[in-house]
Amino acid sequence: MRVLLIGTGGREHALALSLAADPAVELLVCAPGNPGMAEVAELREVVATDPAAVAALATEIAAELVVVGPEAPLVAGVADAVRAAGIACFGPSAAAARLEGSKAFAKDVMVAAKVPTARARSCAEPAEVAAALDEFGAPYVVKNDGLAAGKGVVVTDDRAAALAHADACLAPTAGSVVVEEYLTGPEVSLFVLTDGTTAVPMLAAQDFKRIGDGDTGPNTGGMGAYAPLQWAPPTLTDDVLRDVVHPLLGELRARDATFNGLLYCGLALTPDGPKVIEFNARFGDPETQVLLPLLTTPLAGLLYAAATGRLAEQPPLTWREGAAVTVVLASAGYPGTPATGAVISGADAPGVVHAGTARRDDGALVSAGGRVLCTTGTGEDLAAARAAAYRLAESVTMPGGQRRSDIALAAVQGTVTVPH
Ligand code: AMP
Repeated sequence: MRVLLIGTGGREHALALSLAADPAVELLVCAPGNPGMAEVAELREVVATDPAAVAALATEIAAELVVVGPEAPLVAGVADAVRAAGIACFGPSAAAARLEGSKAFAKDVMVAAKVPTARARSCAEPAEVAAALDEFGAPYVVKNDGLAAGKGVVVTDDRAAALAHADACLAPTAGSVVVEEYLTGPEVSLFVLTDGTTAVPMLAAQDFKRIGDGDTGPNTGGMGAYAPLQWAPPTLTDDVLRDVVHPLLGELRARDATFNGLLYCGLALTPDGPKVIEFNARFGDPETQVLLPLLTTPLAGLLYAAATGRLAEQPPLTWREGAAVTVVLASAGYPGTPATGAVISGADAPGVVHAGTARRDDGALVSAGGRVLCTTGTGEDLAAARAAAYRLAESVTMPGGQRRSDIALAAVQGTVTVPH
């Protein structure tokens, strides 16, 4: 199979490693790619959010499958353009990717499909924001309606900070902002591969959104992850398929927005059961970095089956025994303005997944973004995987780098609890 993978981040490097390891893959091209992906694939330049350019590249290299990593190309219609060129694409249409592209649209679909989620108000004016904050009370949850790379959400007890974030979201584009009820309980990411009708769940994972240890500081794109979740209720996946995934997929089909690709369910396990915090329309980063090393089903065939509507014919997914943990190394300044150009050493070791890295003219590997790389460890249990991930992290150095020291710690200590 000839495969084109779109994207540049850690998620895409993890996807590239698994695609390259699938014996069915005869050619893997990544565009634009990163220095880590260059080790396992041919890199090509492309503007990932330009649907015509991606479709043209896919045609030029005679791709049989295009895998779209990030959300922005999906929202821009890249999957539609690739399919219009007659090539199978793993990733939803622009119409279905609105599930991630617009929080207000996602809420509307969830309400119509009776999917359990936080009560919410879509607001276009500061006065509506103030009324909604009072309706739901503290902690306040204020979300930019559009795409914001995981940084458009503020959760705070400070009403003035909540109002200020809402003003910032409303000001430049005269867009809208979503204010919602705070959900209590541990967060879970459940990824579901789907062709629009058949839904194949992956293992549940947990990611760490805040920049600081103990879940302090601002939200980021994600600072680490682990899987599986020993503490999760045994019926979690079945419950979410029944109450969330199938109603949602049905509602999208009814709206002529069939979802084909990876449905990311971000859930809070509340005392009233799992509720949706958000949907994403693609693999999550960094959860992908822990799920793919555990998945033993060849990835290209699986994504091709989803892309071509044949997921029902696939055998069940198979998983390695044990656990995986990944720890993100971020630049100084992240999630604000990241410092770039810092020299990285030790990044050639197996288990290092590149995100925002670049090669300088002299060949040195340097930071080129907020999240720079991840170190992933696997082991026979979570404690072993965690130890391996941090051992590897110690061997990768970058001046000014930020890294959490408590990824998967509570789960190893057995202190994660699900409220009843
Ligand atoms: P989102 O981009 O919608 O996933 O939000 C980013 C993060 O903000 C989530 O992973 C949660 O940690 C937090 N968050 C978002 N919505 C809520 C909510 N309704 N209740 C509690 N925390 C939330």
